[in-house]
Amino acid sequence: MPESNIGFYGHVKQYHNLKAEIDQAILDVLESGSYVLGPQLVKFEEELARYMKTKETVGVNSGTDALLLVFLALGLGPGDEVITTSNTFFATAEAIWLAGATPVFVDSDPRTRNIDASKIEAAITPKTRAIVPVHLYGLTADMPAVARIAKANNLFVVEDCAQGIGARGDRFAIGELSDAVCLSFIIQKNLGCFGDGGAVATNHKGLAAEIRKLRNHGSMKRSHHSIGYNSRLDDIHAAVLRVKLKRVDEWSERRREIARLYDQGLANTPMTLPFTPPGYEHVYHLYVVDSDGRDGLQAYLQSKGITALTHYPIAIHQQEGFPWGRPARVGSLPVTEESAASVLSLPMYPELTNEEVGRVIEEVMNWTASREALSRQAV
Ligand SMILES: *Cc1c(COP(=O)(O)O)cnc(C)c1O
Repeated sequence: MPESNIGFYGHVKQYHNLKAEIDQAILDVLESGSYVLGPQLVKFEEELARYMKTKETVGVNSGTDALLLVFLALGLGPGDEVITTSNTFFATAEAIWLAGATPVFVDSDPRTRNIDASKIEAAITPKTRAIVPVHLYGLTADMPAVARIAKANNLFVVEDCAQGIGARGDRFAIGELSDAVCLSFIIQKNLGCFGDGGAVATNHKGLAAEIRKLRNHGSMKRSHHSIGYNSRLDDIHAAVLRVKLKRVDEWSERRREIARLYDQGLANTPMTLPFTPPGYEHVYHLYVVDSDGRDGLQAYLQSKGITALTHYPIAIHQQEGFPWGRPARVGSLPVTEESAASVLSLPMYPELTNEEVGRVIEEVMNWTASREALSRQAV
Protein backbone atom coordinates (compact mmCIF):
# COMPACT_ATOMS: atom_id res chain seq x y z
CA MET A 1 0.00 0.00 0.00
CA PRO A 2 1.48 3.41 -0.91
CA GLU A 3 2.18 5.60 2.08
CA SER A 4 -0.08 8.63 2.34
CA ASN A 5 1.24 12.13 1.85
CA ILE A 6 2.35 14.21 4.80
CA GLY A 7 0.93 17.69 4.41
CA PHE A 8 2.08 20.88 6.06
CA TYR A 9 -1.02 21.64 8.11
CA GLY A 10 -3.12 19.60 10.52
CA HIS A 11 -6.20 21.78 10.88
CA VAL A 12 -8.63 19.45 9.15
CA LYS A 13 -7.51 16.55 11.36
CA GLN A 14 -7.82 18.89 14.33
CA TYR A 15 -11.38 19.71 13.29
CA HIS A 16 -12.25 16.04 12.99
CA ASN A 17 -10.85 15.37 16.47
CA LEU A 18 -13.05 18.12 17.96
CA LYS A 19 -15.94 17.90 15.51
CA ALA A 20 -18.83 17.28 17.93
CA GLU A 21 -17.82 20.12 20.25
CA ILE A 22 -17.05 22.61 17.48
CA ASP A 23 -20.18 21.84 15.47
CA GLN A 24 -22.31 22.32 18.59
CA ALA A 25 -20.58 25.61 19.45
CA ILE A 26 -21.23 26.95 15.94
CA LEU A 27 -24.86 25.76 15.90
CA ASP A 28 -25.45 27.45 19.26
CA VAL A 29 -24.22 30.75 17.82
CA LEU A 30 -26.43 30.35 14.75
CA GLU A 31 -29.49 29.77 16.96
CA SER A 32 -28.59 32.62 19.33
CA GLY A 33 -28.95 35.31 16.68
CA SER A 34 -25.94 37.21 18.15
CA TYR A 35 -23.16 37.18 15.59
CA VAL A 36 -21.18 40.40 16.11
CA LEU A 37 -19.95 41.80 19.47
CA GLY A 38 -22.09 39.16 21.16
CA PRO A 39 -21.74 37.03 24.29
CA GLN A 40 -19.30 34.51 22.78
CA LEU A 41 -16.82 37.29 22.07
CA VAL A 42 -17.17 38.64 25.61
CA LYS A 43 -16.57 35.18 27.10
CA PHE A 44 -13.64 34.47 24.81
CA GLU A 45 -12.00 37.79 25.69
CA GLU A 46 -12.31 36.95 29.41
CA GLU A 47 -10.91 33.45 28.95
CA LEU A 48 -8.08 34.67 26.75
CA ALA A 49 -7.14 37.35 29.31
CA ARG A 50 -6.98 34.66 31.97
CA TYR A 51 -4.81 32.52 29.71
CA MET A 52 -2.49 35.40 28.78
CA LYS A 53 -2.43 36.67 32.39
CA THR A 54 -3.16 40.19 31.18
CA LYS A 55 -5.86 42.51 32.52
CA GLU A 56 -7.71 42.63 29.20
CA THR A 57 -7.91 41.26 25.71
CA VAL A 58 -9.76 42.71 22.74
CA GLY A 59 -10.81 40.52 19.82
CA VAL A 60 -10.21 41.98 16.36
CA ASN A 61 -10.41 40.88 12.77
CA SER A 62 -6.82 39.67 12.26
CA GLY A 63 -3.31 39.73 13.65
CA THR A 64 -2.48 42.49 11.18
CA ASP A 65 -5.32 44.64 12.52
CA ALA A 66 -4.24 43.85 16.09
CA LEU A 67 -0.86 45.44 15.27
CA LEU A 68 -2.35 48.35 13.32
CA LEU A 69 -4.93 49.23 15.98
CA VAL A 70 -2.31 49.11 18.75
CA PHE A 71 -0.02 51.42 16.78
CA LEU A 72 -2.90 53.86 16.18
CA ALA A 73 -4.07 53.65 19.80
CA LEU A 74 -0.52 54.47 20.93
CA GLY A 75 -0.62 57.52 18.67
CA LEU A 76 2.07 56.36 16.24
CA GLY A 77 1.95 57.96 12.81
CA PRO A 78 3.85 59.90 10.17
CA GLY A 79 7.35 60.91 11.25
CA ASP A 80 7.55 58.20 13.94
CA GLU A 81 10.06 55.39 13.64
CA VAL A 82 9.34 51.84 14.80
CA ILE A 83 12.19 49.37 15.20
CA THR A 84 11.49 45.80 14.14
CA THR A 85 12.92 42.86 12.20
CA SER A 86 12.89 42.02 8.51
CA ASN A 87 12.94 38.28 9.25
CA THR A 88 9.20 37.91 9.77
CA PHE A 89 5.90 37.75 7.96
CA PHE A 90 5.25 40.83 5.81
CA ALA A 91 2.35 42.00 8.04
CA THR A 92 4.65 43.08 10.90
CA ALA A 93 6.09 45.89 8.78
CA GLU A 94 2.91 46.36 6.77
CA ALA A 95 1.00 47.39 9.89
CA ILE A 96 3.69 49.97 10.71
CA TRP A 97 3.35 51.45 7.22
CA LEU A 98 -0.45 51.33 7.41
CA ALA A 99 -0.28 53.38 10.61
CA GLY A 100 1.77 55.92 8.63
CA ALA A 101 4.95 55.31 10.63
CA THR A 102 8.40 54.28 9.40
CA PRO A 103 9.73 50.76 9.96
CA VAL A 104 13.38 50.54 10.89
CA PHE A 105 14.85 47.08 10.35
CA VAL A 106 17.61 45.64 12.50
CA ASP A 107 19.19 42.24 11.99
CA SER A 108 18.23 38.99 13.69
CA ASP A 109 20.23 36.96 16.16
CA PRO A 110 22.01 34.13 14.29
CA ARG A 111 20.89 31.49 16.78
CA THR A 112 17.35 32.44 17.77
CA ARG A 113 16.47 34.34 14.52
CA ASN A 114 14.62 36.84 16.69
CA ILE A 115 15.49 40.54 16.75
CA ASP A 116 19.14 40.98 17.78
CA ALA A 117 18.73 43.16 20.89
CA SER A 118 22.41 44.15 20.77
CA LYS A 119 21.71 45.96 17.46
CA ILE A 120 18.69 47.95 18.62
CA GLU A 121 20.38 50.85 20.36
CA ALA A 122 22.39 51.83 17.27
CA ALA A 123 19.11 52.14 15.35
CA ILE A 124 17.47 54.57 17.79
CA THR A 125 17.04 58.20 16.69
CA PRO A 126 15.07 61.10 18.21
CA LYS A 127 12.13 59.93 16.05
CA THR A 128 12.02 56.40 17.45
CA ARG A 129 8.79 55.69 19.35
CA ALA A 130 8.47 51.93 19.62
CA ILE A 131 10.10 48.51 19.31
CA VAL A 132 8.19 45.56 17.83
CA PRO A 133 9.88 42.23 18.60
CA VAL A 134 8.41 39.15 16.90
CA HIS A 135 8.32 35.77 18.66
CA LEU A 136 9.41 34.07 15.46
CA TYR A 137 8.51 30.40 14.90
CA GLY A 138 7.10 30.30 18.48
CA LEU A 139 10.28 31.25 20.35
CA THR A 140 9.99 34.24 22.67
CA ALA A 141 12.28 37.15 21.78
CA ASP A 142 14.78 38.50 24.31
CA MET A 143 12.16 40.64 26.06
CA PRO A 144 14.23 41.62 29.13
CA ALA A 145 16.86 43.20 26.84
CA VAL A 146 14.20 44.86 24.66
CA ALA A 147 12.37 46.20 27.73
CA ARG A 148 15.59 47.61 29.23
CA ILE A 149 16.38 49.51 26.04
CA ALA A 150 12.79 50.71 25.73
CA LYS A 151 12.75 51.99 29.30
CA ALA A 152 16.06 53.82 28.93
CA ASN A 153 14.81 55.51 25.76
CA ASN A 154 11.14 55.99 26.65
CA LEU A 155 9.82 53.74 23.88
CA PHE A 156 6.69 51.61 23.58
CA VAL A 157 7.08 47.84 23.19
CA VAL A 158 4.53 45.88 21.17
CA GLU A 159 4.98 42.10 20.93
CA ASP A 160 4.08 40.47 17.63
CA CYS A 161 2.92 37.17 19.11
CA ALA A 162 1.13 35.84 16.03
CA GLN A 163 3.32 32.72 16.19
CA GLY A 164 3.99 32.52 19.92
CA ILE A 165 0.82 31.89 21.93
CA GLY A 166 1.70 29.80 24.98
CA ALA A 167 5.46 30.40 24.74
CA ARG A 168 7.51 31.53 27.73
CA GLY A 169 10.85 33.17 28.31
CA ASP A 170 13.38 32.44 31.01
CA ARG A 171 11.62 33.82 34.11
CA PHE A 172 9.40 36.16 32.10
CA ALA A 173 6.03 35.76 30.42
CA ILE A 174 4.74 37.21 27.18
CA GLY A 175 2.78 40.35 28.04
CA GLU A 176 4.77 41.07 31.17
CA LEU A 177 7.44 43.34 29.66
CA SER A 178 5.51 45.22 26.98
CA ASP A 179 2.62 47.60 26.38
CA ALA A 180 0.63 45.17 24.25
CA VAL A 181 0.70 41.70 22.72
CA CYS A 182 -0.76 41.06 19.27
CA LEU A 183 -2.18 37.62 18.45
CA SER A 184 -3.35 36.07 15.19
CA PHE A 185 -5.97 33.33 14.92
CA ILE A 186 -5.76 32.67 11.20
CA ILE A 187 -6.31 28.95 10.80
CA GLN A 188 -2.66 27.90 10.43
CA LYS A 189 -1.51 29.55 13.68
CA ASN A 190 -1.18 27.49 16.89
CA LEU A 191 -4.65 28.68 17.95
CA GLY A 192 -6.71 29.07 14.79
CA CYS A 193 -10.34 29.79 13.94
CA PHE A 194 -12.00 29.01 10.59
CA GLY A 195 -10.80 32.11 8.80
CA ASP A 196 -9.28 35.36 10.02
CA GLY A 197 -9.15 36.54 13.60
CA GLY A 198 -6.86 38.28 16.04
CA ALA A 199 -6.64 39.87 19.47
CA VAL A 200 -4.71 42.36 21.55
CA ALA A 201 -3.74 41.45 25.11
CA THR A 202 -2.68 44.27 27.42
CA ASN A 203 -2.42 45.35 31.03
CA HIS A 204 -3.30 48.95 30.11
CA LYS A 205 -7.06 49.40 30.47
CA GLY A 206 -6.97 52.73 28.63
CA LEU A 207 -5.24 51.14 25.65
CA ALA A 208 -7.78 48.29 25.61
CA ALA A 209 -10.65 50.78 25.68
CA GLU A 210 -9.14 52.73 22.79
CA ILE A 211 -8.79 49.54 20.71
CA ARG A 212 -12.39 48.54 21.50
CA LYS A 213 -13.42 51.89 20.06
CA LEU A 214 -11.16 51.70 17.01
CA ARG A 215 -12.33 48.19 16.06
CA ASN A 216 -15.92 49.42 15.96
CA HIS A 217 -15.94 52.65 13.91
CA GLY A 218 -14.63 54.78 16.75
CA SER A 219 -17.90 54.08 18.48
CA MET A 220 -18.85 53.81 22.13
CA LYS A 221 -22.46 53.59 23.31
CA ARG A 222 -23.87 54.57 19.90
CA SER A 223 -21.89 57.76 19.43
CA HIS A 224 -18.72 58.04 17.35
CA HIS A 225 -15.72 59.55 19.09
CA SER A 226 -13.33 59.26 16.16
CA ILE A 227 -13.10 57.56 12.83
CA GLY A 228 -12.16 53.95 13.29
CA TYR A 229 -12.29 50.63 11.51
CA ASN A 230 -14.60 47.70 11.07
CA SER A 231 -12.38 45.09 12.71
CA ARG A 232 -14.31 42.86 15.07
CA LEU A 233 -13.81 39.20 15.92
CA ASP A 234 -17.06 37.43 14.91
CA ASP A 235 -18.92 35.40 17.53
CA ILE A 236 -18.71 32.21 15.45
CA HIS A 237 -14.93 32.49 15.51
CA ALA A 238 -14.94 33.36 19.22
CA ALA A 239 -17.05 30.27 19.98
CA VAL A 240 -14.63 28.03 18.04
CA LEU A 241 -11.64 29.65 19.73
CA ARG A 242 -13.19 29.00 23.16
CA VAL A 243 -13.26 25.29 22.35
CA LYS A 244 -9.66 25.31 21.13
CA LEU A 245 -8.10 27.61 23.74
CA LYS A 246 -8.57 24.87 26.35
CA ARG A 247 -6.28 22.63 24.28
CA VAL A 248 -3.50 25.04 23.38
CA ASP A 249 -1.10 24.00 26.15
CA GLU A 250 -1.63 20.32 25.42
CA TRP A 251 -0.97 21.00 21.71
CA SER A 252 2.19 22.97 22.55
CA GLU A 253 3.39 20.01 24.60
CA ARG A 254 2.84 17.70 21.63
CA ARG A 255 4.67 20.18 19.36
CA ARG A 256 7.66 20.07 21.75
CA GLU A 257 7.52 16.28 21.72
CA ILE A 258 7.67 16.26 17.91
CA ALA A 259 10.53 18.77 18.03
CA ARG A 260 12.45 16.41 20.34
CA LEU A 261 11.94 13.57 17.84
CA TYR A 262 13.26 15.78 15.02
CA ASP A 263 16.15 17.01 17.21
CA GLN A 264 17.22 13.44 17.98
CA GLY A 265 16.61 12.04 14.51
CA LEU A 266 18.41 14.83 12.68
CA ALA A 267 21.26 15.41 15.14
CA ASN A 268 23.84 13.87 12.80
CA THR A 269 23.06 15.85 9.68
CA PRO A 270 25.00 18.91 8.54
CA MET A 271 21.85 21.00 8.94
CA THR A 272 21.38 23.60 11.66
CA LEU A 273 18.50 22.67 13.97
CA PRO A 274 16.32 25.10 15.97
CA PHE A 275 17.91 26.62 19.05
CA THR A 276 16.10 27.26 22.33
CA PRO A 277 17.90 29.40 24.93
CA PRO A 278 18.03 27.82 28.42
CA GLY A 279 14.85 28.35 30.44
CA TYR A 280 12.71 29.24 27.41
CA GLU A 281 9.62 27.27 26.41
CA HIS A 282 9.33 27.11 22.62
CA VAL A 283 5.89 26.40 21.13
CA TYR A 284 7.22 25.41 17.68
CA HIS A 285 4.70 27.17 15.51
CA LEU A 286 7.30 26.10 12.95
CA TYR A 287 10.22 23.68 13.13
CA VAL A 288 12.82 25.35 10.95
CA VAL A 289 16.11 23.81 9.86
CA ASP A 290 18.83 25.42 7.77
CA SER A 291 20.52 23.70 4.88
CA ASP A 292 22.80 25.07 2.19
CA GLY A 293 20.97 22.70 -0.16
CA ARG A 294 17.53 23.90 0.92
CA ASP A 295 15.83 24.00 -2.50
CA GLY A 296 17.06 20.50 -3.36
CA LEU A 297 15.90 19.10 -0.02
CA GLN A 298 12.50 20.72 -0.34
CA ALA A 299 12.03 19.31 -3.87
CA TYR A 300 13.23 15.85 -2.76
CA LEU A 301 10.76 15.78 0.15
CA GLN A 302 7.95 16.87 -2.15
CA SER A 303 8.81 14.01 -4.51
CA LYS A 304 8.28 11.69 -1.52
CA GLY A 305 4.90 13.23 -0.72
CA ILE A 306 6.16 15.37 2.17
CA THR A 307 5.41 19.09 2.08
CA ALA A 308 7.99 21.42 3.62
CA LEU A 309 7.65 25.20 3.23
CA THR A 310 9.95 28.20 3.62
CA HIS A 311 9.46 30.93 6.27
CA TYR A 312 10.50 33.25 4.89
CA PRO A 313 12.26 32.85 1.55
CA ILE A 314 12.42 36.61 0.96
CA ALA A 315 13.11 39.07 3.78
CA ILE A 316 10.71 42.00 3.95
CA HIS A 317 13.28 44.53 2.78
CA GLN A 318 13.87 42.43 -0.34
CA GLN A 319 10.23 41.91 -1.27
CA GLU A 320 8.99 43.18 -4.60
CA GLY A 321 6.08 44.75 -2.74
CA PHE A 322 8.37 46.69 -0.41
CA PRO A 323 6.79 50.14 -0.65
CA TRP A 324 9.83 52.16 -1.61
CA GLY A 325 7.61 55.21 -1.95
CA ARG A 326 7.17 55.12 1.82
CA PRO A 327 9.89 55.81 4.31
CA ALA A 328 11.82 52.91 5.81
CA ARG A 329 15.29 52.48 7.16
CA VAL A 330 17.15 49.26 6.40
CA GLY A 331 20.30 48.53 8.34
CA SER A 332 22.84 45.90 7.40
CA LEU A 333 20.98 42.58 7.67
CA PRO A 334 23.36 39.71 6.82
CA VAL A 335 21.83 37.17 9.23
CA THR A 336 18.32 37.86 7.91
CA GLU A 337 19.47 37.53 4.31
CA GLU A 338 21.38 34.30 4.93
CA SER A 339 18.36 32.81 6.74
CA ALA A 340 16.10 33.54 3.80
CA ALA A 341 18.32 31.40 1.55
CA SER A 342 18.65 28.41 3.87
CA VAL A 343 15.48 28.01 5.99
CA LEU A 344 13.15 25.06 5.56
CA SER A 345 10.10 24.40 7.76
CA LEU A 346 9.39 20.70 8.26
CA PRO A 347 5.83 19.52 8.92
CA MET A 348 4.94 20.48 12.53
CA TYR A 349 1.47 20.17 14.04
CA PRO A 350 0.09 18.29 17.03
CA GLU A 351 -1.85 15.84 14.86
CA LEU A 352 1.30 14.42 13.24
CA THR A 353 1.87 10.83 14.31
CA ASN A 354 5.26 9.62 15.53
CA GLU A 355 5.33 7.37 12.49
CA GLU A 356 4.89 10.34 10.17
CA VAL A 357 7.63 12.25 11.98
CA GLY A 358 9.81 9.17 11.56
CA ARG A 359 9.14 9.14 7.83
CA VAL A 360 10.12 12.81 7.48
CA ILE A 361 13.36 12.13 9.39
CA GLU A 362 14.10 9.08 7.26
CA GLU A 363 13.66 11.00 4.00
CA VAL A 364 15.78 13.91 5.20
CA MET A 365 18.49 11.38 6.11
CA ASN A 366 18.17 9.66 2.71
CA TRP A 367 18.63 12.98 0.97
CA THR A 368 21.60 13.86 3.19
CA ALA A 369 23.27 10.49 2.49
CA SER A 370 22.81 10.73 -1.29
CA ARG A 371 24.14 14.28 -1.27
CA GLU A 372 27.23 13.20 0.67
CA ALA A 373 27.79 10.31 -1.75
CA LEU A 374 27.57 12.74 -4.68
CA SER A 375 30.06 15.14 -3.14
CA ARG A 376 32.48 12.23 -2.49
CA GLN A 377 32.25 11.28 -6.18
CA ALA A 378 32.98 14.86 -7.17
CA VAL A 379 36.22 14.88 -5.16
C1 LIG B 1 0.37 35.64 10.83
C2 LIG B 1 1.23 36.75 11.23
C3 LIG B 1 0.78 38.08 11.26
C4 LIG B 1 -0.54 38.50 10.70
O1 LIG B 1 -1.64 37.86 11.22
P1 LIG B 1 -2.98 37.79 10.36
O2 LIG B 1 -3.99 37.26 11.33
O3 LIG B 1 -2.73 36.87 9.22
O4 LIG B 1 -3.31 39.16 9.90
C5 LIG B 1 1.63 39.05 11.76
N1 LIG B 1 2.84 38.75 12.18
C6 LIG B 1 3.33 37.50 12.15
C7 LIG B 1 4.70 37.23 12.67
C8 LIG B 1 2.55 36.45 11.66
O5 LIG B 1 3.04 35.21 11.61
